[in-house]
Amino acid sequence: MTLDFKPRLLLGPGPSATHPRILQAMASPTIGYLDPQFFGIMDQVQDMLRAVFETTNPLTLPVSGTGSAGMEAALCNFIEPGDSVLVGVNGFFSQRMCEMAGRYGAEVRRIEKPWGEVFALEDVREKLEKKPAKLAAFVHAETSTGALQPLEGLGDLVHAHGGLLLLDCVTSLGGMPVGIDQNGVDIAYSGTQKCLGVPPGLAPLTISARGQAALMARRSKVANWYLDLSLLSKYWGKERAYHHTVPINMIYGLLEGLNIVLEEGLEVRWQRHRENAELLWAGLEKMGMSLFVPRAYRLPSLTTVQIPTGVEDLVVRRRLLNDYNIEIAGGFGPLASKIWRIGLMGHSSRRENVTLLLAALREIL
Ligand SMILES: *Cc1c(COP(=O)(O)O)cnc(C)c1O
Repeated sequence: MTLDFKPRLLLGPGPSATHPRILQAMASPTIGYLDPQFFGIMDQVQDMLRAVFETTNPLTLPVSGTGSAGMEAALCNFIEPGDSVLVGVNGFFSQRMCEMAGRYGAEVRRIEKPWGEVFALEDVREKLEKKPAKLAAFVHAETSTGALQPLEGLGDLVHAHGGLLLLDCVTSLGGMPVGIDQNGVDIAYSGTQKCLGVPPGLAPLTISARGQAALMARRSKVANWYLDLSLLSKYWGKERAYHHTVPINMIYGLLEGLNIVLEEGLEVRWQRHRENAELLWAGLEKMGMSLFVPRAYRLPSLTTVQIPTGVEDLVVRRRLLNDYNIEIAGGFGPLASKIWRIGLMGHSSRRENVTLLLAALREIL
């Protein structure tokens, strides 16, 4: 038996706990990617993704691969060499966007903020007035810092300067409102293993009408064949033309995950994420710890808390894992050994999990 391991309580930045119903769905028999029965499943997945993204965008599909494949698809389909791409850089994942955009030949322009802070409209306006950008890219829920980027007015501002708004929704989709249509987001992607509570392996992606027009206006072929939306949409659209063998059982899992999200109801689910996060915040503060991000833009799905002085990051996390089977994460880059990152995403966002983690932390500290 090689799969011999202890189950863990996943309270890190992802993956989150998988609901048993999803694992059961994934164990269903594999059928063919051109089986008419599978087309019905694809249609349902796309319809439900639209509901969760809060959009009517026809071009909405799960990309094969994890959140980073979604990021790559969101960038490579819109970038032609020399295109100007403005990226709001305030954490690890926005840096990754710069790295990817550069590889596709974009002229990457950064708006920088310290990790843990978010962008104001004025910051973005100033940059766009200096020089317009084809894409303006932001991370909605920055998992490396715990900060939530406000979206009010951002879409209108980017559109007024002739650009497209690109948003990383990996740690927001399914855990808090994203309002793709309402906020004028043109390109958004996510991952299955965060607030959707499905194992890692698919990256939901949605493109607005404005975004589709930009795809049509391309002068050159998309530099990435696997993620080329003009090819992918022939399989996910009416033609059903073979492109690659999609991960069938992952799509069963996503279907069931989306069923669970919509059965619970978006509003109720967002509220659950909010309430459990509030409970965690109150508990950590009661133990004398300081939260890293101000309440006004603190993420409900991922909490960052300062490691108390004199406490060894790794010692505590190792004890949580070995003695309590609980996984949380440390910080990245400038936040390494300064903060812990605690995820309450999807099926992991439950009151009993908050209680258990707080009790374990209290014992260890
Ligand atoms: C996790 C994450 C990603 C990357 O997703 P992978 O599934 O690890 O490829 C991208 N952006 C954000 C904000 C994330 O939290």
